[in-house]
Amino acid sequence: MKTPLLLLSLFITLFCCAQQQFQVNHGIDTSNVYTKAILKKWKKYVSYDADYLNREAQQTFGGFWSERMIKKYKYPDLLNYCGALSPSLLGLGLSNKVIAISKRNGFYWLKSIFYYAENDSVFVPIAITNYPFTNENNDFRLHNTLLLNTSTWKKKTVGQIVYHYNSSHKFNSKTAFKANSAYLQLTSLFGIKPEKLNYYIFENCDNLYQTIGFDYRIGMGGENNRCGYYDAKNNNIYTGGYENPEFHEHEIIHIINNSFSNAHDWFLAGISGYWGGHFGKNLNYHIDRVYDYLKKNPDVNLNNILAHSKLDDFTNPTYVYGGIFCHLALQKNGINGLKRLLSYGTSDDDFYNAIDKELGIQENEIHTTMMKLLEEYSTKKIPTISYRDLSGK
Ligand SMILES: [Zn+2]
Repeated sequence: MKTPLLLLSLFITLFCCAQQQFQVNHGIDTSNVYTKAILKKWKKYVSYDADYLNREAQQTFGGFWSERMIKKYKYPDLLNYCGALSPSLLGLGLSNKVIAISKRNGFYWLKSIFYYAENDSVFVPIAITNYPFTNENNDFRLHNTLLLNTSTWKKKTVGQIVYHYNSSHKFNSKTAFKANSAYLQLTSLFGIKPEKLNYYIFENCDNLYQTIGFDYRIGMGGENNRCGYYDAKNNNIYTGGYENPEFHEHEIIHIINNSFSNAHDWFLAGISGYWGGHFGKNLNYHIDRVYDYLKKNPDVNLNNILAHSKLDDFTNPTYVYGGIFCHLALQKNGINGLKRLLSYGTSDDDFYNAIDKELGIQENEIHTTMMKLLEEYSTKKIPTISYRDLSGK
């Protein structure tokens, strides 16, 4: 679901070029030979430079990650690809301060804080993470927090989906079958190979982030302790706090993201929100809330719609506006129209160009068009064109 993603993308550009700092807090015994070796490796791992961005290539994981992790995962750093941050946590080029290294259950756990400084007095923490190190042939290598924290969890395979959940969760096979059907329908509709999908179920959002290794992550807190995300690198889904969690439809729809790397974020978010709702409610619920808000705030001008991605903890307008544009594309030109909408590029200009070319809506007409549509859909409900019908399965 990636709620804070858009917010983050905005400020990333503000600090991307700032000097990256690496520090070790007072109180850590840097004379200890193990601590020294771990810090050396960690510093290299979190340092950001142009070459280092190539860490995403499989071979660069060697030297950092344990052999077992490299074998097990396509991209072993599951925390880095946590969907709430864009680009990834390490890709943000943040400063890092190590605050503790403790030995627990045979692992050396490195706790650190990722942050940036806007100036001398404004310090912005983005995440506090826990990364376990293991001593492998006299060399310290990273291991995965999620794997260690879920080692006693249950595992169940339903079709192409492998579910992972705590023993306190009552697994619902019927819902899981629905999820697998949806996965197969979507992969078939978009011509994607239906690879094995790992699917993790958590009690709530806090629990989700803690289990993958965060003590803190920007955007945490608030009343809505529910979230989910899709890790496109590893084909993993994470869902926390929802009813019927075996079928988190919104996140399953995100599996198409990999196939549309040239799509604007708003359309990819939109299609998930259109077919799968968000925050546990369908699109109609959110249409009503957004329309209500706009009626009460007549000064909002949607002609620069991309600047209006925020409402509150319970509705994200990105999914509403993006979803309506996807609906219009489907209505006008069917699945091929939608696929074309997802192909114009990722910049803001590409976004406006896509709605002009595909939907015939020019930038200065967005506000009037959107208000008219919101009014119509809030009285008559949006006539959703489902992926089930389109896939013919
Ligand atoms: Zn989403």
